[in-house]
Amino acid sequence: MFQELAFQKCISPACGATYGVDEVRVACGRCGDLLDVEYDWDRLQPPDSLRYFEQWWGQRRVPTRFSGVWRFHELLPYASTESLVTVGEGQTLLQQSDGVGAYIGLKSGRLHLEYEGMNPSGSFKDNGMSAAFTHARLTGASRAACASTGNTSASLAMYSAVTRLMKAVIFIGSGKISYGKLSQALEYGALTVQIEGDFDDAMARVQEVSRDLGIYLVNSVNPFRLEGQKTIMFRVLEALNWEPPDWIVVPGGNLGNSSAFGKAFAELFKLGLISRVPRLAVINASGADTLYELVTRRGLRWNRGRIDKQLIADYYRELDERHKKASTIASAIEINRPVNLRKCVRALEVCDGVVRQVTDQDILDAKAQVGAGGFGCEPASAASVAGAKQLVREGVIGPDERVVCVLTGHQLKDPTATVAYHTTDEEHFKKVLGSRGVERAAFANHAVAVPNDLNQIIQAIEQHG
Ligand SMILES: *Cc1c(COP(=O)(O)O)cnc(C)c1O
Ligand SMILES: [Zn+2]
Repeated sequence: MFQELAFQKCISPACGATYGVDEVRVACGRCGDLLDVEYDWDRLQPPDSLRYFEQWWGQRRVPTRFSGVWRFHELLPYASTESLVTVGEGQTLLQQSDGVGAYIGLKSGRLHLEYEGMNPSGSFKDNGMSAAFTHARLTGASRAACASTGNTSASLAMYSAVTRLMKAVIFIGSGKISYGKLSQALEYGALTVQIEGDFDDAMARVQEVSRDLGIYLVNSVNPFRLEGQKTIMFRVLEALNWEPPDWIVVPGGNLGNSSAFGKAFAELFKLGLISRVPRLAVINASGADTLYELVTRRGLRWNRGRIDKQLIADYYRELDERHKKASTIASAIEINRPVNLRKCVRALEVCDGVVRQVTDQDILDAKAQVGAGGFGCEPASAASVAGAKQLVREGVIGPDERVVCVLTGHQLKDPTATVAYHTTDEEHFKKVLGSRGVERAAFANHAVAVPNDLNQIIQAIEQHG
């Protein structure tokens, strides 16, 4: 019943081609640009207040209302209630964190961390995967594929194993994926294809393979995935009693999240459900800084949809000429050709956004601070905290402003980086982190080595405790 009220639409205002939601597409058939999922809001009659959603809190036994994604079904209504797919995603936490706030330079009570690592597969990707699986089921797909730096594949593999709706095929670059993530894909039973090359190579190949074999693609070029990821912002608002914060800070990889957040706020504002749109800060790793380079340094803007394609093409040609590959300890954002670049630039326009880059040193120090504050996160996630710190230092974010940093993935996804940061073994530190330009571990919590002797153990505890 919802289907004719939702449709896919090319993001280029000059084109504006539309397609049914039953079509499987990752690009506009007319001009090749990205697609949005759009709704006929006038006929859908969405809720007139965000408080409407509070009624579902009492219905936790209904799986689609327990889901932190489908609790907000009325704001992503492209499928009927019966066809929604959930594995219990979106039970995430918005935590006030004064310790990390002080590190960033914010006053007490001003920083909240959105722990998306608490999703079933350990990253925010589950928000999008439930939405993509729901769409895939509508289209009758039997196989799904993705290229991944790790978390998309872990999520796809999990949804495939739990729901048995589609077989999972994942493409990963060689040696580019952390053990935590790889172990998930293998154990959940996904067909795992390791490509000689990096993520950008794997991404290019998987699009061709999906097209040729008719496999459903669940990377974030899939517009339905981003619908699910809008709900991260709905839950942030929910936790803040529906009052928008001043800033949302998020790491930028393929730029699906930042794009989804921009769309979420644009829609909420248009529907009169919020009266103010938060500002958005997207944080690149300095070793994978395409967005920063194009937006902050070269002035790329949305420009009412007339984006300067030449500027982008020139930059990518430079990357090729210099044989420049993405390189950062934050493997989840080790991406030089973000597929959602144009949508993200639009989101920056909607949210009066800024883009910054942070070094691997900044990222690991911020990650140690997040961990010391409890729960923890993986390296890519900590880019948000490192970026917020930089923006406070610059005076772009005021110490009184209310900031939400999105922590995209779970701490246990990448223990290699964490152990190397805290190790007392200098050789090991240098081997894992030295090549990344990381020179010191300012917040290392070193293990204390003691002989197997009661007195010496007691002495060590008294001395260090
Ligand atoms: C995928 C991922 C990102 C990057 O998100 P994009 O939407 O691709 O920008 C960041 N952090 C983690 C942990 C991820 O898994
Ligand atoms: Zn088009």
